[in-house]
Amino acid sequence: MSARVMVVDDVPANVKLLEAQLTAEYFEVVSAYRGEDALRMVPVEKPDIILLDVMMPGMDGFEVCRRLKQSPETAHIPVVMVTALDQTSDRVQGLEAGADDFLTKPVDEMALMARVKSLVRLKMMTEELRMRQITGQSLGIMEDPAILSVTEEQLVGHILIVEDRPQSARSIAAALNQTHSVEIEGDLEHAFMRVKGTDFDLAIVSLSMESGDGLRLCSQIRSNEKIRTLPLLGLVQDGDTRRLARALDMGVNDYLIRPIDKNELTARVRTQLRRKRYSDRLKQNLQLSLEMAITDQLTGLYNRRYLVNHLKTLVENSVEHGKPLSFFILDIDYFKRINDTHGHDVGDQVLAEFGRRIAMNTRGIDLACRYGGEEFVVAMPDTDLSFAYAIAERLRKDVEMRPFEVSTPSGRLDVTVSIGVTACEGTGDTAEKLLKRADEALYTAKRDGRNRVVAAAA
Ligand code: GH3
Ligand code: MG
Ligand code: MG
Repeated sequence: MSARVMVVDDVPANVKLLEAQLTAEYFEVVSAYRGEDALRMVPVEKPDIILLDVMMPGMDGFEVCRRLKQSPETAHIPVVMVTALDQTSDRVQGLEAGADDFLTKPVDEMALMARVKSLVRLKMMTEELRMRQITGQSLGIMEDPAILSVTEEQLVGHILIVEDRPQSARSIAAALNQTHSVEIEGDLEHAFMRVKGTDFDLAIVSLSMESGDGLRLCSQIRSNEKIRTLPLLGLVQDGDTRRLARALDMGVNDYLIRPIDKNELTARVRTQLRRKRYSDRLKQNLQLSLEMAITDQLTGLYNRRYLVNHLKTLVENSVEHGKPLSFFILDIDYFKRINDTHGHDVGDQVLAEFGRRIAMNTRGIDLACRYGGEEFVVAMPDTDLSFAYAIAERLRKDVEMRPFEVSTPSGRLDVTVSIGVTACEGTGDTAEKLLKRADEALYTAKRDGRNRVVAAAA
């Protein structure tokens, strides 16, 4: 994992030290020596994470953090406050300013890497979601514009504390259970059964239990298909670097050193929950786009599902801004006969060619879609009824005049189409009503002999 880290500190020696540690782990480092400089540089340098000193002359770290979190352009970048040891009030203030995590000076190398890696992972999820959102919007399928915002409500988690010291377990639970739903388990075997059987969002595992090895539980979780992605937060004894290193190697997401600082605990729990929410959304998003695959395989036009969603938006927009919107339904004449005479494959070729004819006779902003079997729909923004009628008529003639090339002995097939046209009539009109009117016009065209265009009477 590589990433771009911005280090902000007024003391050059501190900057150099962090730079050296981060570069050794192949992180790219950008430095700033003043809060004001950092604010100016962030939008340009686009760091993945920011390490921010609290005490700086001029603008202090809290103010820098507050401003970064206020700007939509930079709010998503994780900020780690670098505070002096034992400055609990700094941590509270840092949290209030929107900081994502803390490091204490002098910065311990392992702590630095754990924080940076945990937050870089979070940032990567955020980026991926942002890109999906942009793509989704251009496709018109992302219904939730707030995909990236996680509400306080969504940051409430179901947490299991695995700890055999009742006193310690109780105090951790007390720090969390005002916000989260917390359960305690003192037995490792039971803990494994419980995480397998219940939908937890996070497990906080003591790595210094008397009754067994918490690392074993972490390893069991990480190698179980069903629960391997469960976020894990380890609790380690101060100085137990060996176990901590093994835990991080094993994929424990983050850790806290005893005695546990309540603010750190809260912040790290939040980061893990946020990452879990993002990761769940990415999975959902994948499923959604698979389900909602928006094009019709045979013709390459939009499918019905897409039309139904998008037409609603088009009609609302037309009604709201008083802009014209027209719409037609096309149905191939005697299509069943083509299938019956030449086979289903030839029928499919006709449908594919028909799709191409529609695409050729409409504009890019028109929404052409295969509505069902041999029924198609075209919605035309900024187009009034008489113009839509003219386009429909041009398309009808094109179909009639140029036989379709298909794999029959003659290689050609005469096809005709009937079309019902209608236009949005402003206030009170809906997508359903439009579809119904166009359908009625189509029915009239069929009844009156087919191969014709009929506009719905307003
Ligand atoms: P009309 O002039 O009244 O529209 O008559 P029609 O024969 O076109 O209409 P009808 O609704 O009776 O028949 C439509 C046929 O389209 C029936 C169905 O088997 C066929 N069909 C639907 N989807 C497909 C498809 O994907 N491929 C092929 N080849 N045929 C399809
Ligand atoms: Mg300073
Ligand atoms: Mg038909």
